[in-house]
Amino acid sequence: MTDRGCSHLNSVESVKQPKVRECAECVKIGAQWLHLRTCQQCGVTLCCDSSPNQHASKHARVTKHPVIASAQPAERWLYCYPDDAFCEY
Ligand SMILES: [Zn+2]
Ligand SMILES: [Zn+2]
Ligand SMILES: [Zn+2]
Repeated sequence: MTDRGCSHLNSVESVKQPKVRECAECVKIGAQWLHLRTCQQCGVTLCCDSSPNQHASKHARVTKHPVIASAQPAERWLYCYPDDAFCEY
């Protein structure tokens, strides 16, 4: 496998895809989101940093789950929070 920039990204073997196209936290509070990200540790799908509630970043901080994938249909990339590393797949 090619080097993706950090050990977390390198350890992703099959990218988890979103089970639902909605933010699991925004739907609970009736909030809006812009884009969606899927946690590669637990598979939850949450909203991006351009969304008002930034649930994906909050989830990463609280749980220490390092890697998200874009859940946008046209996008195929991974991002690692602790290393600020980005790669396409
Ligand atoms: Zn990393
Ligand atoms: Zn959200
Ligand atoms: Zn997670």
